[in-house]
Amino acid sequence: MSGSPIGYGPAGWQVPDAPIIPFIEGDGTGPDIWRASQRVFDAAVHQASGGRRRIVWREVLAGEKAFRQTGSWLPDETVDAIRTHRVAIKGPLTTPVGTGIRSLNVTLRKLLDLYACIRPCRHYPGVPSPMKAPEKLDVVIFRENTEDVYAGIEFAAGSPEAARLREVLQGEFGKSVREDSAIGIKPMSRFGTERLVRKAIRYAEAHGLPSVTLVHKGNIMKFTEGAFRDWGYEVAAREFGGTTYREGEEGRPGASIRMQDRIADAMFQQLMLRPDEYSVLAMPNLNGDYMSDAAAAQVGGLGMAPGGNVGDGYAVFEATHGTAPKYAGLDKVNPCAVILSGAMMFEELGWEDVGRRIIAGVRGALEAKLVTYDIARQLPGATEVSTSTFADQIIQHLG
Ligand code: NAP
Repeated sequence: MSGSPIGYGPAGWQVPDAPIIPFIEGDGTGPDIWRASQRVFDAAVHQASGGRRRIVWREVLAGEKAFRQTGSWLPDETVDAIRTHRVAIKGPLTTPVGTGIRSLNVTLRKLLDLYACIRPCRHYPGVPSPMKAPEKLDVVIFRENTEDVYAGIEFAAGSPEAARLREVLQGEFGKSVREDSAIGIKPMSRFGTERLVRKAIRYAEAHGLPSVTLVHKGNIMKFTEGAFRDWGYEVAAREFGGTTYREGEEGRPGASIRMQDRIADAMFQQLMLRPDEYSVLAMPNLNGDYMSDAAAAQVGGLGMAPGGNVGDGYAVFEATHGTAPKYAGLDKVNPCAVILSGAMMFEELGWEDVGRRIIAGVRGALEAKLVTYDIARQLPGATEVSTSTFADQIIQHLG
């Protein structure tokens, strides 16, 4: 089967039986993890479809491997291939230090306008956690990916740009900024907020989830984070008036999704104290960066944390952790984050049966207590196995 690209139209993804999916294996431990993950994906797709469907994997280069072979950290052909095939999966990439590129991940997100960073955080039985009842946390975080202080508009202390901005702020708006300041800009738009919150509500609808919480610091930053909250409520009322209601206004028939908002610092406490009261969380970029790592830590750390960067018609799925270079080539690290990112990818494409099998496989391997070092060192009675043996265990439990 030669395969064909995934399409996208008004009704969403159009997925052929043999879609071509580009992959970036990643740096450091990336190749070990990718080898294991691809076997799991192929087995799950084969089992779920009785051999009718398969993935035609196409390797594309990025990171150190790309730099060695082409002299570029992110060759144009890679971006073109992802644009053509629309959905890709990647391992972790080294962030090159002292080059023009800030981060390959950020560059990919910008080029393809992958505006929603989606991170499900749920506990798998057996995974060590610092919490007393980690199974109570089961949330999906939608982090805005393109705006906020991460937009990259900042000027060094002492630069002519910072001096000019200070002048304008002082002269035209009467706002003084200390002379030796660096200055960063925090843009947040109605457009950027609404499309993020829209995606979060659609996700809650599709998965039958009970609430969407807007997480913000609008009490302090009224015109940016406060507007995020207001625009979020507005899009819910305007476009999802039938299925959503505002906290405190329960009771309307058919409205099953509670829209609520929380101040970000209080939300960090809530996630630890009353995590079972939350399901989908939507938030600006910086809040989302912190909160998704904190939530991942509650359910067992980065080795288990999947993610997806999704736009309209483009998506790149990736583990949350880095390249863990000290373990490169040792067939040692936990492949679950990439494997569960693959489960997210299949679910996004409408192959829920494949996603479910992968999750069942991970659960089964954990219950068998044959796990990689990071889990084995904290799980009484567990036996440490290699990345590839762990993948074998997952495949054995897919069904
Ligand atoms: P890291 O690679 O995530 O590793 C930090 C530690 O986390 C590891 O030493 C290991 O802990 C644990 N860990 C990470 N992945 C694991 C896995 N799959 N299984 C088990 N344990 C795992 O973070 P870093 O050392 O700060 O970053 C290394 C490189 O990765 C940098 O170049 C950074 O820029 C890049 N990075 C890339 C991405 C991305 O591509 N998405 C994300 C973050 C960082 P122990 O030492 O306790 O075993």
